[in-house]
Amino acid sequence: MSKIRQTFIIIIIVFTAGFYFNLKKQYSINDFTNSAISTENRVNQYIKLSCDYIDILSIYGNEYMTSNTHDTNSYLKDLNYNKSNNYYSLDSASVKGYSNYVGNLTGKGYIPIDSESIKELNLALNYNKYFYSIYKTLPGITWIYYTSKKGFMNIYPWISSKEFVYNDVLLEKEFFIGGLPNVNKNKSHFWTPIYNDAAGQGNMVTISKSIYNNQNFLGVVSIDITVNKLNYILQSKYNAFLLNEYNQIIGSNFDNHEMETKLLNLNDLLSEYTESQLKALKDLPKDKVAKWQDNYIYKLSFKDAPWALYCILPVDKVLIETFISTLPIFIIGAFLLLLSYEIYVRKKTETNLKGLVKELALTQSLLHKSASYDFLTSLLNRRGFFEKFSELLAKTNNKELISIIITDIDFFKRINDIYGHSIGDTVLVNVAHIIKNSINCNDIIARWGGEEFLIVLHNTKYEEAINKAEILRTSIANTIIKHKEVEIKLSMTFGVSKYDDSIGIEQCISNADKALYYGKNNGRNRVDGYEDLFK
Ligand code: GH3
Ligand code: MG
Ligand code: MG
Repeated sequence: MSKIRQTFIIIIIVFTAGFYFNLKKQYSINDFTNSAISTENRVNQYIKLSCDYIDILSIYGNEYMTSNTHDTNSYLKDLNYNKSNNYYSLDSASVKGYSNYVGNLTGKGYIPIDSESIKELNLALNYNKYFYSIYKTLPGITWIYYTSKKGFMNIYPWISSKEFVYNDVLLEKEFFIGGLPNVNKNKSHFWTPIYNDAAGQGNMVTISKSIYNNQNFLGVVSIDITVNKLNYILQSKYNAFLLNEYNQIIGSNFDNHEMETKLLNLNDLLSEYTESQLKALKDLPKDKVAKWQDNYIYKLSFKDAPWALYCILPVDKVLIETFISTLPIFIIGAFLLLLSYEIYVRKKTETNLKGLVKELALTQSLLHKSASYDFLTSLLNRRGFFEKFSELLAKTNNKELISIIITDIDFFKRINDIYGHSIGDTVLVNVAHIIKNSINCNDIIARWGGEEFLIVLHNTKYEEAINKAEILRTSIANTIIKHKEVEIKLSMTFGVSKYDDSIGIEQCISNADKALYYGKNNGRNRVDGYEDLFK
């Protein structure tokens, strides 16, 4: 019963724990998914804003250059040619106190004078008001600039030409080449690989878009975004990183302390994995949680940037956290089991104790029986006799009607001597049986000594007792006891007395004994009465 209860408890615990474990695990994975989606949203928002701004700048540039209107930007006149290094710049912005609102426009050689170039210089300077507000609105921008293939650049925020100046090398950089008509035929915005900033602002990526005057490519407008900013956007309680189409890590929220200055690719970030494992990672399906090595991976992509966001949740972490939160169920379960075991042990002890008490009572009654009965003949022994006699006495009104007979087998020693002790025993059993059958149920018979028996007759007068003894004597004398081949004849001598309450049972027995010994001395096989002999 208890085993069943314990099994039942174990089954319930295992089921509850299993159910809770799965629920908790699912909850952890859902939390991970939600966190990944919210990280994706933040990155996406940032990408989208960058794209929108670059598109606005591009549209404005194209419109401006194709329109017939031709304004003159107020800063144009402040451009200065520096003879010593053969560059022109807007270094005067700092002297004149408006350097917060403009970028520095630096260009190679003399300030151009042809109308097409002047229009483009005006466009570059007109960009200042856009650069200013975009720079203020979009956090994480390092530089925002227009680069012309004619050999000049307007870069915001303003930086002295002593620190940075236009150089033809810039026209060979990814941010510019990616906008060239033969490279970017559909004139869309594009993201550069990650690179180290020429002006010393660390690692960054650039979004650029080309500016055309009808079919005539003029230059590109660009926004630089620091890796630091992308790292910051990726902040979440789960590990995540951004990978571009060049296999470069452009943002990560773990192991990212070197990212500001060092260019990391996927193999550097996840150096503990093999090439084929990393390939499998890149080939994982998008927009769903997938298992990769010992991790859950949620891979997400973006519409406006060829980047992939990887969010990582180690399987171990889920299992350990889930297991820890399931522990209380096991503790409660163990407690219940212990409790049920204790109840079981207590019940068992109780049952054992009851059995023991029963056994004890049985032993006691057996002991009592063996103390009151003779083992050989099953008749009462002396002790048993006195108990029975006091019971008889208590329920007898007329105590005069109690008579006592004591009888002894004649020459029993000879029987033992001739046939052996065990046949002697059989004779004793037979004699006991004969006497028992000759008395009433309320009478008492006991084995008084070796071959001596005591009979107490209830409701029997002394004379009647003499008669009964005589009948018994005759019956025994006529009986042949058969045992195997042996036939034994025997006789018994009887002494009779009447019960006298005034002298007590022991004295009355002694009286009957006296009559018996009289008989023994006078020939045996006879009945003698004490009352007749000695009174
Ligand atoms: P008497 O006629 O004078 O009574 O002679 P007796 O031989 O019967 O008397 P005695 O007292 O000389 O011998 C009694 C014998 O009864 C002695 C003893 O070995 C034997 N006896 C006593 N108890 C048992 C018993 O339980 N089994 C057997 N087989 N013999 C017993
Ligand atoms: Mg005797
Ligand atoms: Mg005898």
